[in-house]
Amino acid sequence: MSDLKTSPAANEFRSDTFTTPTPSMLTAMANASFGDDVYQEDDITKKFQSEIARITGMEDALFMLSGTMGNQIGVRVHLNQPPHSVLCDYRAHVYAEEGAGLAVLSQAMVTPVHPANGIYVTLEDVKKWVIMGEDIHTAPTKVISLELTIGGVLTPLQEIEKISEFAHANDIKVHCDGARLWNASAASGHSMAEYCKHFDTVSMCVSKGLGAPVGGVLASSKSNIKRARWLRKQLGGGIRQAGVLTAPALVALEEVWPTMKNTHLKAKRLEKDLAEIGVVPQIPVDTNFFFIDAKRSKIDVGILLEQCKKFDVKLQDERIALHHQISDEAIENLKAAIAETVNITKNLEPGYVSQVPSGGYGSSSKMNEYS
Ligand SMILES: *Cc1c(COP(=O)(O)O)cnc(C)c1O
Repeated sequence: MSDLKTSPAANEFRSDTFTTPTPSMLTAMANASFGDDVYQEDDITKKFQSEIARITGMEDALFMLSGTMGNQIGVRVHLNQPPHSVLCDYRAHVYAEEGAGLAVLSQAMVTPVHPANGIYVTLEDVKKWVIMGEDIHTAPTKVISLELTIGGVLTPLQEIEKISEFAHANDIKVHCDGARLWNASAASGHSMAEYCKHFDTVSMCVSKGLGAPVGGVLASSKSNIKRARWLRKQLGGGIRQAGVLTAPALVALEEVWPTMKNTHLKAKRLEKDLAEIGVVPQIPVDTNFFFIDAKRSKIDVGILLEQCKKFDVKLQDERIALHHQISDEAIENLKAAIAETVNITKNLEPGYVSQVPSGGYGSSSKMNEYS
């Protein structure tokens, strides 16, 4: 059985999705309530959802089978009759990594925005790209979706507030892909509710940094959640004995969330240690991710991946993901693998071409279009 120290995820830097359920999560699953949640008769699930509503300050919440399901349903509750479009960052998961869900499920066009600052979308970007008015050539913006964190980076609360005010003044809804809103809150010190009050719908993951085995959750108004429950059923997401999934999610909130600050400190320390050997990130290291800027760090990613195998750490591209089950030993091994890569790369003849292509996993390894 896994525990915090010996989890198979201890050397897993590919993503924070690789975390494994802790013993207390497994115990909670065994002792869950087993009511039918399609009939809304499961006590633990109701408790989980009201706990999320409390934490986020939203009226209601609904458990989702995944963050993707929460995003797609969260956006769709706002969209009724095409033509309409969704404005979001060009790297946004809801657009780039959800199998064209917005096109298929919401018949929505997308306006993918390249933030002028290269890091996060601002009100200036929104004003530049938003589609408004009654020009019959267009698909008006009906939803603005902000991803928090995006690439592990914090968007300032003030910027979120400005975008939300602008959107609401123009009859546009605002959705938050808050898969890692937990991280944003832990890192910035702003409460979940301080973020959520600017959004009409907020989707969160419980199986990323929070470490629960399955799921996500959507928070919104009572009427939006009522609609979301209907759409979730349509997608096959009506869960019968949902308590086995929501019980470990409740444990994750109590047990893992408080450790997130510490995970972020480890990322900061890693940033400092890597800077000493000339390895720099593509974008700021605000939370649990370090995206290696391979070009500026003069690192061959193919060699890096080979070295990671040698040093017994798992990496798939330029993104280093930290989470609560990463061991200190694994961090030391990762640093050794990177240091070795720097040495090897230094001695390569000019014109050498990496045998292993860099990236290749969606867009998640490239958070900066210039790297
Ligand atoms: C992982 C992720 C999702 C989707 O979550 P799944 O549970 O994997 O479907 C949504 N948004 C962001 C930003 C994510 O990183």
